[in-house]
Amino acid sequence: MEKKELLYEGKAKKVYTTEDPDVLIVSYKDDATAFNGQKKGTIVGKGAINNRMTNYLFKKLEEKGVPTHYIQELNDRETAVKKVEIVPLEVIIRNFSAGSFAKKMGMEEGVAFKCPTLEFSYKNDELGDPFINKYYALALDLATEEEIEAITKYAFQVNEVMREYFDSLNIELIDFKIEFGRYHGQIILADEISPDTCRLWDKDTHEKLDKDRFRRDLGNVEDAYQEVFRRLGID
Ligand code: ADP
Ligand code: UDP
Repeated sequence: MEKKELLYEGKAKKVYTTEDPDVLIVSYKDDATAFNGQKKGTIVGKGAINNRMTNYLFKKLEEKGVPTHYIQELNDRETAVKKVEIVPLEVIIRNFSAGSFAKKMGMEEGVAFKCPTLEFSYKNDELGDPFINKYYALALDLATEEEIEAITKYAFQVNEVMREYFDSLNIELIDFKIEFGRYHGQIILADEISPDTCRLWDKDTHEKLDKDRFRRDLGNVEDAYQEVFRRLGID
């Protein structure tokens, strides 16, 4: 499979068209951004880790009944995926308080919830991805009721599969963001699942093994990404 034209360059990935109108190639970069692009940097080796980790997890999720955009890993950084129309919602699942939730609710980070929570942000960089609810999404015609139902069901399913899996790696899945797309009338999981989009804490030490090390200048950013990758045991 060959890249044809650069369709889109985002903050973390480049997206290329191919000969097949239903297939895109995503190319993961080492670029890192935070705070809606205000903080910029490089995390050496991140592109390959996020690409391979996403593919590994997406294959696992497919086996458990969550449809995904994954087609084929082409090399360390590049993967062929089904071209979807992205639903402009960032779907965030949380198992523990952290980040913007902890701030908003006046809580410490790391408090376990009685049950997982789900929230939506409107995927819009200019507005800074504002928090919205299902009724905003319906009113603004961002998705249909059926689509939101499917997204919600799959998102909690992703959480169950990932939580259990990360637990086996001695990692606590604190929270994460996922995106979905429309593919021939079906809702499927798209984009990525990586230390860029999840909060992952070592279960014993509570050491952060994710992008918060970059956001908060905690140091050892590359090591944290490598450590998660090592525990996944890919190859
Ligand atoms: P951002 O756009 O937030 O800077 P990225 O750098 O990760 O993010 O760019 C990748 C873009 O590709 C994102 O906007 C994402 O929604 C989109 N995308 C992810 N998977 C697919 C897919 N299968 N089909 C079409 N677009 C996708
Ligand atoms: N997240 C993400 N992209 C975003 C916003 C959030 O991948 O644009 C992830 C983030 O890494 C964390 C989860 O979603 O795992 C919840 O993030 P939160 O709402 O707490 O926002 P933050 O504190 O990162 O601003």
